[in-house]
Amino acid sequence: MSAAAETLSVLKDIAERGKAGASGRAPEIASIFIDSEARHALSGATLVSTNPSREIPAANFSRGGREDVHAAAVSARRALGGEWGGTAPQRRGELLYALADKLEESSELLATLETLDVGKPLSQSRGDVAGAAATLRYNAGAADKMEGSSVPLGAEYLDFTEHEPLGATAHITPWNFPLGMAARSLGPALAAGCTAVLKPAEQSPLTSLAFAALASEAGFPPGVLNVVTGLGDEAGAALVGHPMIDGVTFTGSVATGRIVGASAGRNLKPVVLELGGKNPLIVFADADMDRALDAAVEGAFDNSGQVCSSVSRLLLENGVKDEFLRKLVERSRELTVGDGFEDPDLGPLVSPEQLEKVDGHIAQALESGARALLGGGRPAGVSKGYFIEPTVFDNVDVNCRLAREETFGPVVSAFGFSGEAEALAIANSLPYGLAAGIHTSDIDRALRLARRIEAGTVWINGWFIGGVQAPTGGVKDSGYGRERGIAGIRNYIRIKNIGVHIADHCAGG
Ligand code: NAP
Repeated sequence: MSAAAETLSVLKDIAERGKAGASGRAPEIASIFIDSEARHALSGATLVSTNPSREIPAANFSRGGREDVHAAAVSARRALGGEWGGTAPQRRGELLYALADKLEESSELLATLETLDVGKPLSQSRGDVAGAAATLRYNAGAADKMEGSSVPLGAEYLDFTEHEPLGATAHITPWNFPLGMAARSLGPALAAGCTAVLKPAEQSPLTSLAFAALASEAGFPPGVLNVVTGLGDEAGAALVGHPMIDGVTFTGSVATGRIVGASAGRNLKPVVLELGGKNPLIVFADADMDRALDAAVEGAFDNSGQVCSSVSRLLLENGVKDEFLRKLVERSRELTVGDGFEDPDLGPLVSPEQLEKVDGHIAQALESGARALLGGGRPAGVSKGYFIEPTVFDNVDVNCRLAREETFGPVVSAFGFSGEAEALAIANSLPYGLAAGIHTSDIDRALRLARRIEAGTVWINGWFIGGVQAPTGGVKDSGYGRERGIAGIRNYIRIKNIGVHIADHCAGG
């Protein structure tokens, strides 16, 4: 049995055991994947992944350190000069298509592992697998279409550009969409001919490991895609600072983004920083209220609010504010919260730390006079798991953390405004700039505001519009660089310019 097949077999056991809710010591898995071989950490250290719905350990996995990162970086660099370096772009695309097929064939396993690690409802985990496969296919199709250009210098010259792979790349991912975020940056990196080392979040190692094992089964040569599981300030920091790494793609919080950006800057390596947001949804009195309500409910509560681009500030024109909030509460009250394996609308938060952070934001808001129109605590009758009810707040003091900082939970705060200028001022008042939404039937107003809002993405009369084709990223503290779309592939390409002086006579004549 190949190492990839053995790894997938252990992952299947973990998935079955986890879904069945088996307690006791969790199975151990060698989760560092280098040169298509699964390894334990050289130090022998391990970490535990816990099912956040049931608070039951799911797996003991490897806590990679500096030496493991070094081995992965060496492997990624070696692979650049081997078979992979000579693999034609079209063939890279075929391998990505094959990997997308493998993800879909293993959809149930991957979805189960994702729900086990992070608690999200099973049908949403299945959707994430489908999204990851679509991401790979988009990039597969682009692999042989990233053309260089010829530069007009006149009759005496031929000048052209070639696209070279950036090299050995680091990918550091968060826990909210572990598989989706891995596919989002690995798809274009592999399409462009790079090699990669992936460091998933400590809460969610399992689908990243499965992804690498499936890539090996799909035919990617050893060393092209390596995974080092472990802690951010150990394995993650060692990876970002490793001299053999040519570029870094980081998805995570603003605070960690600052550390990663500084480290990459010290080594003069390009970095993409996909960070957090405190995203406003602006609803004008002339909006189609049903559509705006759909956007608010989906935007605020999808993935239990643990989405970088979730709606966390609801800016409502004063004339419609009360009615909108009444209907929002009515609709949100219907949402079910529960164990991810029972497929509710909302699963738990990922960890006790995340629950504590969200609780802290709520407590401070309540102390300073906020009014909970819905939720604000644990669902009734729940004693286990890191659950929090869908929560809608009004009267939130604008200086509270709930109003100013990324909460990353199913909590939305409403703020009234009067007129376009005030809406814009509130929307732009924070250091974040990831996503924003405008609901209005006035197209001029929508487009005027879309240009003035400081955000990498603006959605009009909808939320979560777009997929792998549409570039995403932040401005201000929400980061820089863009992922998805053709922009996402450019992150992994180095342009080389080649100039030729053409002699104007035949040699010897
Ligand atoms: P995080 O704490 O910043 O961690 C993200 C990743 O960085 C994890 O793998 C983490 O490892 C690692 N890390 C931590 N310290 C590091 C260091 N010193 N050097 C290198 N890596 C380090 O974020 P999170 O809590 O996992 O994820 C939630 C955040 O991600 C939210 O802010 C959310 O908005 C953001 N996000 C942004 C986007 C986007 O597209 N803009 C998409 C999804 C999520 P450990 O797990 O071991 O700490």
